[in-house]
Formats: sequence, structure tokens, C-alpha cells
Amino acid sequence: MRGDRYIFVRRCHVEDLLEACRSAIKYSYSPYSGFRVAAAIKTSDGHIYTGVNIENASYGLTICAERVAVFKAVSSGHKRVVEVMVYVEEGPPIPPCGACLQVISEFGDNPVIHMASGDGRIVSRNLNEMLPHRFRGDRLGKRLSYS
Ligand SMILES: [Zn+2]
Repeated sequence: MRGDRYIFVRRCHVEDLLEACRSAIKYSYSPYSGFRVAAAIKTSDGHIYTGVNIENASYGLTICAERVAVFKAVSSGHKRVVEVMVYVEEGPPIPPCGACLQVISEFGDNPVIHMASGDGRIVSRNLNEMLPHRFRGDRLGKRLSYS
């Protein structure tokens, strides 16, 4: 079993994140905007977690796909994010919103963020480029721990 996991981690490239998003996007709950988004994150041990946007009639309670994916990972015991994929079916690739960047920041030093659209375009940046002056726990006198 240990060997299987090693193989899984080595095979895990951007295509795996993209495929995870393509599989998950059908679960998007977006009856108000009609704008479906999927996200997939890879943790430091190679696990992939997906998320979709989940809207609410009380619009402010809507949550983005990226945060759903991060919360699924963290609540499953995986707290170190190394890659993020945000996927939309139509239009240009979109970046995570500011709230999602902040949440991603809590669980990754400088993860790569891939933004993809259904027409095959993929743009990749790292978190430090997208949120260069981020607020971190060390500013509260806390040491970050991913374990
Ligand atoms: Zn967001």
C-alpha cells in the first residue's frame, strides 16, 4: 500500500487537478448566478480534495469552491496545501477571490494556484504573487503548524 501511495503522488500533475475539477463541477449549487465553479487542491502528501461553489438564497451565505475544498482537506486532517486549481467551464480563467486567497494562505506557505477554463486555458501563479501582503498568524504572535 505504501508503494501505491508513492506512485499516486508522482503521477499527480496538473491534469489530475483539472480532471478532479471536471468531475466535481456537476455538483455546483448555483441556481441564482448560474455560474458554476469547481476547485481542487493538492495537499503535501498528495491527496486531492475538490469543492464547488454553494449558493444560498441569502446571498451572503454563499461559499466559494476553493474554500469548500480547503475545508474538506483540513477537516480530513490534511492542513498543508501545495497546489490549487480553480476551474470554470466558460469564459476566461478566474482567480480566487480575496477571502479564498486568505483561507488558502492559512494552510500553505506559497502554493501554486492554477486557473483553468473549459476551453483549455490555464494560468498559474503562486500565492505570494496574488496576495503579496497577506495577513498571517505570525502577526498574532502564533507559530503556524501544518501538522
Ligand atoms: Zn472565493
